Amino acid sequence: GSSVDASGDVEIDEENAEDDLLGGLRFESTGDISVPERLVDQVIGQEAARKIVKRAAKQHRHVMMIGSPGTGKSMLAKAMARLLPPENLQDVLVYHNPDDSNEPKIRTVPTGKGEQIVEAHKEEARKRNQMRSFLMWIIIAIIVGYSLLIARQVLLGLLAAAVIYFAFRYSNRGSDAMVPKLLLNNADRQTAPFEDATGAHAGALLGDVRHDPFQSGGMETPSHDRVEAGAMHKAHKGVLFIDEINTLDIRSQQKLMTAIQEGEFAITGQSERSSGAMVQTEPVPCDFIMVAAGNMDAMENMHPALRDRIKGYGYEVYMEDTIEDTPDMRRQYVRFVAQEAEKDGRVPHFNPDAVREIILESKRRSGRKDHLTLKLRDLGGLVRVAGDIAKSEGEEFVEREHVLEAKKRSRSIEQQFADDYIDRRKDYELKVTEGSAVGRVNGLAVMGGDSGIVLPVMAEVTPRQGEGGEVIATGQLKEMAMEAVDNVSAIIKKYSDQDISEKDIHVQFVQTQGVEGDSASITVATAVISALEDIPIAQDLAMTGSLSVRGDVLPVGGVTHKIEAAAKAGYERVIIPKANEQDVMIEEEYEEQIEIIPVSHISEVLDHALVGEPEKDSMVDRLKSITGKALEAAEGS
Ligand code: ADP
Repeated sequence: GSSVDASGDVEIDEENAEDDLLGGLRFESTGDISVPERLVDQVIGQEAARKIVKRAAKQHRHVMMIGSPGTGKSMLAKAMARLLPPENLQDVLVYHNPDDSNEPKIRTVPTGKGEQIVEAHKEEARKRNQMRSFLMWIIIAIIVGYSLLIARQVLLGLLAAAVIYFAFRYSNRGSDAMVPKLLLNNADRQTAPFEDATGAHAGALLGDVRHDPFQSGGMETPSHDRVEAGAMHKAHKGVLFIDEINTLDIRSQQKLMTAIQEGEFAITGQSERSSGAMVQTEPVPCDFIMVAAGNMDAMENMHPALRDRIKGYGYEVYMEDTIEDTPDMRRQYVRFVAQEAEKDGRVPHFNPDAVREIILESKRRSGRKDHLTLKLRDLGGLVRVAGDIAKSEGEEFVEREHVLEAKKRSRSIEQQFADDYIDRRKDYELKVTEGSAVGRVNGLAVMGGDSGIVLPVMAEVTPRQGEGGEVIATGQLKEMAMEAVDNVSAIIKKYSDQDISEKDIHVQFVQTQGVEGDSASITVATAVISALEDIPIAQDLAMTGSLSVRGDVLPVGGVTHKIEAAAKAGYERVIIPKANEQDVMIEEEYEEQIEIIPVSHISEVLDHALVGEPEKDSMVDRLKSITGKALEAAEGS
């Protein structure tokens, strides 16, 4: 059976929805898919955050969003502003204060009134000026007439006229000072304001008073005219969004806290030595809803009192990085492509095959079985690049090839760096992809979050120099190396007659620059065993995995990227933890290039990695006999 999508015009093939990357949606291009009108309905996934945003908008509460970049935090904050009633908006005026020109007055009026008031003041000033210049010319005419015709003193007459002219011009300036400045004009606003103050400096957030280079002498700009509203004032009756809240300086965080508490905040000059610092307005209204955002780290580093305030008067919500892959979700991702294409406005719509490729990519990027990534800013970037390519080729719709091409082009800086790094390594022939070597293992690591890289490890065993045997490792990965040797030593003790405490073990990583701390402990363990037993390791093979004290191979992160890196570097085989098998989502082109070997015990790793029959076989057999129980027995005895 087939049914019709809620959006009204696109059919769903229900029977095949389960296996279809498009969730059964039948369409010719994403142009057929209708995009919901409300921004809050365009948000994909983030069910919890969406609910909270709707509730907080109704109750006028603050929200704290914790999560990865590009998952929809600012989108939700903006959506929240659109949910707020626009009828509460106001205009704000700043007036000259005749009693103290350094303390301008603030007045709040209904929207639209602000412009009228300023216009009325200007009109009045204009009339007054007209009156004055009329008067001035009459007086000049009388004086000049008198000196020319009666006193016959031409020079004196002209001089007097000039003095009067400049006297009038000068005193005129004062009358302009009476025109108020429209600090906040909401006359044309249909929705409550949304202000993004991410990374804003103090002046942009808290408001500022501009410096006046002519501080006296009749040339100065009146102080009220130099007052500028900050994001917190512009957000009055709307939403103030600040991402990476912890990067805001502490002083600003404190002031933000005061503003939230009072609902108003006086504007003063922010740079200390400027003439603006002498000026402080009456309190300016700033009754906004705060949406603060950041990652986990940010939450720990933000001003605790500010966090308490937001928490105490609002909600905290986690943003999801991935979402379960269901037919309904896939249909939403189809809509996402339509949304992004429409939002951009210049790129063509996508045909079904192109959308399939985008959805495949979002599966891949999720790094989790049966999940789709919610890092949709990046995915939106891919949509736009693919669209640009299709457009430059003059195609009506974006096709699969365009998406594939876009994926190549939109590689992150880290990935490009990794590519370059691999190329350079080729030059230096650091990479060995054939033959065998004692104590050398091709490990795999992750760089820049989403790029795999080959990281060779070398181990050497020498008679001990000092008191007890030592593990000597260099670089940032030292701790990991020591832990790996620790874990493997229990196993070695059991199967081997070698006494590890009688040896120094040297572990060297070949070039670790840029590599993130990684649990490559099976790599280190394999290298150490090879060096200890003097059995060579096959070099057509790369590996990744973490090692338990019991010899179990435990799962690690980034397997997909690591496997791809190994394939690209020319290895024939790659060992991964069995528990990671379900996370593998490598691109088709790599599937034929490399054999993936899932393992769950160190004995299997050595079975594949070591070469040289008799020694290897006897060792693998011995290792296999070391089950958890055997180890416990060894420890117990
Ligand atoms: P964040 O604030 O979390 O860094 P943004 O809200 O700025 O992310 O997201 C950037 C863009 O990515 C959005 O404008 C939107 O096009 C897209 N996007 C991000 N998350 C989502 C989502 N959950 N649903 C739909 N689009 C999203």
